[in-house]
Amino acid sequence: MTTVSTLGSHCALQLLKGAKDEGLNSLIITKKSRESLYRRFPFIDNYILVDEFKEIIKPEIQSQLKDSESVLIPHGTLISEVGIEKVEKDLNVPIFGNKWILRWESDRYLKEKLMKAAGLRSLKSFKPEEIDRLCIVKLPGAAGGKGYFIVSSYDEFRKIVDDLISRGSVLPGSEEDFYIQEYSVGVPVYFQYFYSPITKNLELLGIDRRYETSADAFGRIPSKHQLASNISPTYVVVGNIPLVLRESLLEEAFLIGAQFVKAADKLVPPGMIGPFCIEGVYDKDGLFIPFEFSARIVAGTNLYLNGSPYSTMLYNEPMSMGRRISREINLAKKKDIMHKILT
Ligand code: AMP
Repeated sequence: MTTVSTLGSHCALQLLKGAKDEGLNSLIITKKSRESLYRRFPFIDNYILVDEFKEIIKPEIQSQLKDSESVLIPHGTLISEVGIEKVEKDLNVPIFGNKWILRWESDRYLKEKLMKAAGLRSLKSFKPEEIDRLCIVKLPGAAGGKGYFIVSSYDEFRKIVDDLISRGSVLPGSEEDFYIQEYSVGVPVYFQYFYSPITKNLELLGIDRRYETSADAFGRIPSKHQLASNISPTYVVVGNIPLVLRESLLEEAFLIGAQFVKAADKLVPPGMIGPFCIEGVYDKDGLFIPFEFSARIVAGTNLYLNGSPYSTMLYNEPMSMGRRISREINLAKKKDIMHKILT
């Protein structure tokens, strides 16, 4: 029987609960230190214990996965801890979704290219010397907004970078790899989509916003104190908050998702398969300005284990993103077209 497998972090519990709910086997590749946590949950059938997630590329672990007819579900930790190169070159177990698009998610410039090809409103990106407006500086490989900072001129950028270098937080020269993007003032909204290459249907299964420290703490301090203490916001994600959109904005949300699927189809064969997320803000004029995408399941879907208002309108049963993935696996198995959902 097919086994749904994943690394033990991020949204593993949701994925494996969804697998069990759909009648599939479940397997977790967990660090030994977290084994006792995962043992608390009765829906996990099999365990592979590792010291580091990187061990997933070891031949003996890959054989174990193959022997259990595993479909590996990628999530943020696979990219951040195993690394995109190893996932592309050394990981030979079937992966749910298009593993090639994960490179487009990791590489800022490919990311920009795909978003532009999708015809989404785009934000300008800058070389340090060109900064002429409020910008957010994104560090390479930064997980969950860690280390991001705000600048509005080259001098300011230089000062912060020199300070980071002198404190040993970044290596001299590494600022070349920082991604500097126009800052869009607005309220953040994250669309959680699922695209089925089998039914060719795009589903919006949930919407959330992130709870980020210290950006979301700023309204709690009077601005004169912000200025006096010279503090600037950081964007480290600590959790997710559910959101429903004004109904009049929903049509555009579907359009954005559909445009993205179309562009991925053209630029990154075999195209978008399964979960993805478009992340952006609604600006002062109510326009949605996307600044990022994730081409795989995002942790914000953990909000909706029992379904969201949007999934409830599509399914008369609790439908998490994790469960939806397993349902797609079952559908592909039934039709004998697993090749359509795996890479
Ligand atoms: P990211 O890692 O790109 O998803 O960014 C982390 C957080 O930084 C987001 O959740 C937003 O709060 C903020 N952010 C990123 N890019 C922008 C942008 N261009 N304009 C405004 N806020 C942004």
